[in-house]
Amino acid sequence: MSTTPKAPHYDLIIAGASFSGLVCARTAAMRGLKVCVLEAKDDPGARIHTTGILVKEAADEVDLPHNLMRRVHGVRLYAPNLKSVDLFAPGSYFLTTRTADLVRWLADEARRAGATILCGARFDGAERDGDILRLGTHGISGRYLIGADGARSTVARHFGLGLNQKFLTGMEAEFTGLGDVDPRFLHCFLDSQISPGYLGWIAPAPDVMQVGLATNGSARPDLDRFMQKTGALFDYAQGSVVERRSGRIPCGGIVAPFAAPGVMLIGDAAGLVSPMTAGGIRLAFRFGRRAAQAVSDHLLDCGPSPEAVLAREHPKFRLKKLMRAGLNIAPPNPLIDLGLSSALMRKLATRIYFHRTAAPGQTFQDFQEKVLMPEDQR
Ligand SMILES: Cc1cc2nc3c(=O)[nH]c(=O)nc-3n(C[C@H](O)[C@H](O)[C@H](O)COP(=O)(O)OP(=O)(O)OC[C@H]3O[C@@H](n4cnc5c(N)ncnc54)[C@H](O)[C@@H]3O)c2cc1C
Repeated sequence: MSTTPKAPHYDLIIAGASFSGLVCARTAAMRGLKVCVLEAKDDPGARIHTTGILVKEAADEVDLPHNLMRRVHGVRLYAPNLKSVDLFAPGSYFLTTRTADLVRWLADEARRAGATILCGARFDGAERDGDILRLGTHGISGRYLIGADGARSTVARHFGLGLNQKFLTGMEAEFTGLGDVDPRFLHCFLDSQISPGYLGWIAPAPDVMQVGLATNGSARPDLDRFMQKTGALFDYAQGSVVERRSGRIPCGGIVAPFAAPGVMLIGDAAGLVSPMTAGGIRLAFRFGRRAAQAVSDHLLDCGPSPEAVLAREHPKFRLKKLMRAGLNIAPPNPLIDLGLSSALMRKLATRIYFHRTAAPGQTFQDFQEKVLMPEDQR
């Protein structure tokens, strides 16, 4: 007599194998849950849509391999007239990354912890069967589902959860051979005409220079125009473009509702991105881990509902939403030129980038001489 094989049953199914989904999968598997991650792409590291810069606090959330990152201590902030100021704060830094390899590393870590990752497997719906969720297309079922499937989440749509409504749009090219960019700095360019609501950037990643900009809903990003302007400072003709990307960044705060019984959104799907800086990776790490902990407390130890636990911990973004509204007004360029020449604005900008300021009178040069050792002595 032949028997039909039983559909694999998991404690936790996660849609999306990127920053939030993979950190969630690793933590949940390490806590003893049987975890399955569905990823639409054939390789989690393929077609990366992000610049992948980590704030220091992101690297404090999850320990990451040093060889996939480059520490950048300063920000060179350019006014629309291309005059610049150098910002820094001892103890703080950004990390640019080999982003595709970092995502692949997170996937390997999740697998090592015991999670199953199914690639080329797009989440396209689930049926409730009592407390169980059945994913017919994939022939699997689970006790809890997490939507870590990005800014336009299918999990959110399928379960009638909140959808991101406000976005910035980012566009970027990666260059090799751009030799004349000072790699000690993230180069950030303010210009209300070219990048209304946000800014342009040149970021020294470990192997390439990332040149990009983002804009709010009032304009589409025009990378050629940005490069034409900054071509006064950098000779793009020396370099070659090795990759291009673009994507939408939620900037309206957390979606509501972000969860239903047995289902929860994390990362971009939940709108967990700073409305002001548009950085989402730190919050993807933080709430990926916290969601996994809350789900395992719930499933293994009859803890409280994971949705209630996370709702108490979510940032409210009140100040950041106000600042986003201010940025969307996009002040005229001459006003930004004037503002950036004042000490008060420089101090404010340093706080925004680094959450702290340098000691009075300390210069970037002093700081570099004190803290930086040659690469081979680190
Ligand atoms: C141009 C740009 C630059 C950015 N730069 C930075 C930066 O420098 N620093 C920073 O902190 N943040 C940055 N962000 C934001 C950051 O990229 C996101 O906040 C972060 O990627 C969110 O991670 P996530 O895991 O929630 O979602 P994502 O990284 O969007 O991953 C979602 C995953 O789900 C998969 N998926 C989608 N639909 C399905 C489905 N139906 N079934 C299965 N899988 C699915 C996707 O293939 C993808 O792998 C940038 C964003 C953009 C667009």
